[in-house]
Amino acid sequence: MRLSRSFLPTLRETPKEAEIVSHRLMLRAGLVRQQSAGIYSWLPLGQKVLANIQRIVREEQNRAGAIEILMPTLQSADLWRESGRYEDYGKEMLRIEDRQEREMLYGPTNEEMVTDIFRSYVRSYKELPMNLYHIQWKFRDELRPRFGVMRGREFLMKDAYSFDIDEASARRAYNRMFVAYLRTFDRLGVKAIPMRADSGPIGGDATHEFIVLAATGESAVFLDKRALDTPVPGDDIDFYGDLTPIVSAWTEKYAATEEMHDKAAFEALPEENRVEARGIEVGQVFYFGTKYSEPMGAKVTGPDGVDHPVHMGSYGIGVSRLVAAIIEASHDESGIIWPESVAPYKVGLINLKVGDAATDLACDGLYERLTNAGIEVLYDDVEGRAGAKFATMDLIGLPWQLIVGPKGLASGEVEIKRRATGERESVSLDTAVAKLL
Ligand code: ATP
Ligand code: MG
Ligand code: MG
Ligand code: MG
Repeated sequence: MRLSRSFLPTLRETPKEAEIVSHRLMLRAGLVRQQSAGIYSWLPLGQKVLANIQRIVREEQNRAGAIEILMPTLQSADLWRESGRYEDYGKEMLRIEDRQEREMLYGPTNEEMVTDIFRSYVRSYKELPMNLYHIQWKFRDELRPRFGVMRGREFLMKDAYSFDIDEASARRAYNRMFVAYLRTFDRLGVKAIPMRADSGPIGGDATHEFIVLAATGESAVFLDKRALDTPVPGDDIDFYGDLTPIVSAWTEKYAATEEMHDKAAFEALPEENRVEARGIEVGQVFYFGTKYSEPMGAKVTGPDGVDHPVHMGSYGIGVSRLVAAIIEASHDESGIIWPESVAPYKVGLINLKVGDAATDLACDGLYERLTNAGIEVLYDDVEGRAGAKFATMDLIGLPWQLIVGPKGLASGEVEIKRRATGERESVSLDTAVAKLL
């Protein structure tokens, strides 16, 4: 993409309404624009990052055997009356009336709707296990929307729902999502630790929150330092093999949110292993048995010929919150440092002297070679001061910068800079291209 043809509205000033660094950087780098409290438009750079996160989430859900669907944002109140949650959910639910005076709502989550889909089609245990997911906008009328997309009112969530014949197989479904989450967050470049957590309005008895440690996080957390270097399984993992050793390696080490904190157990750890920190909830997995299938009549015939309500779990990932969480975990005083897996472009190509024939020619050539090789390049082909160009590239945080000016070109060289470390190297054009492929 040529900067001259793109729409990248960066801000020079630090917006004063933004309290935390990710919110400031998202506004300054032109990722989002607030439209009303907790409701955002995604601008081109933000939209690209959001799409990259969705792609990774989707790949790992599919790998773990989940099947993608798409449910609507608007739901009927009647469905929620069946589970008893319509009244319980309270003011966080945005209630809407259509012109026929039918009660509708903007979905804060989809347990009821997916249970309705399931009960309409599935009759036999032979069709199980099944896990259906979608990536869809949710609405929760948060009391205090804040920190930008971190706590929005409209936000993008991946939510998956598993259906099994009994508790034992439902626990295996839970473990598959648990492991898929370890892999997903690892690929997104964040360290998310599964922690014992409170089940909140979803209900159920087994649940873990996946939490990224960050000083600005809203949750107080307590963990065993050794949880931080527990290995994440590779992509050769067999999701239908025995996952309990992997799950146990994480759950055996103390890690809990404030609500579930067990002071005595924590203090039994050697002092040097106790970590008290703050964190950001980027996902949560729940097993809740027959909480929805029982009242909603989602039953399948078992091998015994008898109908059984299915055992269910639900599994959420905060896709839009992750954009902010990744920035909280990866930035410096100059701006964002995107992990390569989610970066909106891999390379920022900087033309230091637009209008100088030799520099333009070299830049155009590099742009073409890299683009043809499938590398995403943002090409700064706009006239401007070198200082301002560097500052913008640092702010938007692309993993690599390729800096091209007449001085270097005179000796056949360009500069390549790694955003994460600031390291710069002068190399030939061919070497630069080879390094970026
Ligand atoms: P929180 O404790 O932050 O309010 P939650 O526990 O209510 O989140 P869940 O119902 O577990 O949220 O939803 C799954 C995921 O959706 C969360 O782990 C979080 O990453 C994301 N999420 C929830 N609420 C918001 C929000 N208001 N804005 C952005 N993301 C959110
Ligand atoms: Mg909440
Ligand atoms: Mg929570
Ligand atoms: Mg939660």
